[in-house]
This record gives sequence, C-alpha cells and structure tokens, in this order.
Amino acid sequence: MDIPFLNLQAINARHADELKAAAARVIDSGWYILGQELAAFEREFADYCGVRHAIGVGNGLDALALILRAYKELGQLHDGDEVIVPGNTFIASFLAVTESRLVPVPVEPDSASFNIDPSAVEAAIGPRTRAIMAVHLYGQLADMPALAELANRHQLLLIEDAAQAHGAASGGRRAGALGHAAGFSFFPVKNLGALGDGGAVVTNDTLLADRVAALRNYGSAEKYRHLYQGINSRLDELQAALLRVKLKYLDEDIARRRQVALRYREGIRHPQIGLPSVAHEEQHVWHLFVVRCAQRDALQRHLQAHGIQTQVHYPIPPHRQSAYPALRDVRLPLTERLHEEVLSLPIGPVLHDEEVERVIAACQSFEGNA
Ligand SMILES: *Cc1c(COP(=O)(O)O)cnc(C)c1O
Repeated sequence: MDIPFLNLQAINARHADELKAAAARVIDSGWYILGQELAAFEREFADYCGVRHAIGVGNGLDALALILRAYKELGQLHDGDEVIVPGNTFIASFLAVTESRLVPVPVEPDSASFNIDPSAVEAAIGPRTRAIMAVHLYGQLADMPALAELANRHQLLLIEDAAQAHGAASGGRRAGALGHAAGFSFFPVKNLGALGDGGAVVTNDTLLADRVAALRNYGSAEKYRHLYQGINSRLDELQAALLRVKLKYLDEDIARRRQVALRYREGIRHPQIGLPSVAHEEQHVWHLFVVRCAQRDALQRHLQAHGIQTQVHYPIPPHRQSAYPALRDVRLPLTERLHEEVLSLPIGPVLHDEEVERVIAACQSFEGNA
C-alpha cells in the first residue's frame, strides 16, 4: 500500500456525519452568501486567533490582496510602494503585492528555518518601503518579535501570510494576532481546509476590517451604495458551515502533526538528509515537513520506489518565474539553492504510526552517491 502525501478523503471522512449535517443545514436554509453561517464562522475564527475581527473571503490570495487594497483605501499605501517579501515562498505572497500595484522586494531566508531573515529585511528597507509581508512558511512562525521591532522603528505595516500556520503560537498569541493584519487560506490541503476555496482576513484594526468587508463585496457596505471599486470575493455559507465543523478539530489535528514531526525528527538520522529546525514547538504547526538533501531528486525517486509520495515546496522561486520578468536579475543564492534541495515528506492528522515508521525506514535506507 502506497503512502499518499496527504489523504484528504480520510481527513474529511472522520467528520462525514457532521459535515453532511452542516451542508444540509445550508441547503435547507435557502440562504447561500453572506448569511448566518459566515457571521458565526467569522466570530469563531476571530476568537480562535485571538483578534477582534475576521472577514471571510474567497481564498488566501484574495485575503492578502484585500489587506493591501484596504490599506490603499485608508491612504496608508500608495501605488508603487515597496513591500518586503520572503524570496522563499509560494507565489501568492508576491501576486497579492503586484495585483495591488505595489512592488515586491524579495529577500533571503534564514538558513536554519527557511523563513524570512530579519537582518535581510533590515538591509532591504529603503525610502519607498512601506510594509513587510511575513510568511509563516511550512507552518512555522517567522521571527515576529524581530520583524515587529523593525516595523515599529521604520513605521512599516507588518502583514502575516498565515496561509500555512493556523494555530501556530508564540507566548500564547496565535498567528493572525502577531502583526497589523493577516491573511489565511482554507484551500482544502491547508491545516484548516474547506471543501473548496476559502480564505479570511483577521485583524484588530476596526477601520481596516470595515474596508476589507466592503471591498470583498463590490466595495459596498450597504446594498447598491458603492464606496470603493471592490471585487467579489466572499466565503460562501456552505464553506463557512463546513469550516465551523473543522475548526473544532484543528487543535487535535495540530497535536497529531506535532507527534508525527517529533517521530520523524527522532527517527531520521541520515548524514545527507537535513532535518527542519524548530525554534519552539508551540511556534510550528507542521503544515509541511520539509527536509533538505543535496541529492533531492534521487531521494524523491528512492522514496517513490518504496511507495512513499513526496512533493517539492517549491521547485521554482517566484522571482525566477516567467510571470515576473522584472525580477529576472534579482539574485537570491540561498533561496535558489533551497528550491533545488527541499523535499516535503508525508505529514497530516491521519498518518498512522506504521506509515511514519515506513517513511523513516525508507529515508534511512537512502544511499546517495556521497
Ligand atoms: C496557499 C497559500 C496562499 C494562497 O492561498 P489560496 O487559498 O490558495 O489562494 C498564500 N500564501 C501561502 C504561503 C500559501 O501556502
């Protein structure tokens, strides 16, 4: 039997009865957009994150873009302003910036955590810098105290891309409550996944929350009165109802992911396989378990031969994508090297102990050409 990278079917099957009851409730209600389920989920998710406001939107990319758009409506950002972003991230972090007619300035990661390096951020701050987009990569918090200190000192906005980090915490404060605003994704494979697309903006800033709420709904807070040139990006009632079910189990799921990660970190002891570094257990929710190996492709083939599915997050950094010719000359040697060496092992709340042991044994039997 193969070990899948992530078994979404099994993840949702655990709650099939509750999910079906929630879906039936929405179907029978006759109300499908901007209703009670969304309002309830927004309250519950804001409480979970420990912030005043959550606004459900269509997906994680829109969540990030709507934060930036809302800051523009508030006069805190302007066309052409620079946003410092980690070079080592999913392209959505960049797309949110460019879609908002802002300029992404990519910087190198910390070589241990692969998360954005605050000293690289500091070196990149210039006269047009207005914001830092911190990505909690793979589910581990970026160094938010250091980034908050920089943001404070230089009067920059600090935005969290928390798409991979629902529930990660530092000193009891969760992702979403560690900057000025945060974007979450509920894409099905995320740690809190809908059964379709979904996302949310969370913030303590009431003015920002009101702008985002209007912008996601044609720029309107009141029917047929349009304050801004908004978009249509709303978390629908069905996804909100399903997410209310899944939110109840998020902490259990995180606990299981941490068990799996701990066992991998104890069991995989191979001179050619670099294990992820963890600053503090509470800060990592293990959306992905990413190892580093100079012979990454050979390791991936070896694991595949043992029936173990792996993935690469990510094979090509955003600044090297055809979508960004303007960034073609940017040089980020560490970022570029990481993209050739990272490999994500199976991890998730339904991975069994026997499967974890099989992954460990297969890693241990890897014979790279040293
Ligand atoms: C998934 C993800 C996004 C985008 O979320 P979508 O819901 O797929 O639009 C943004 N940033 C990061 C780091 C992600 O992993």
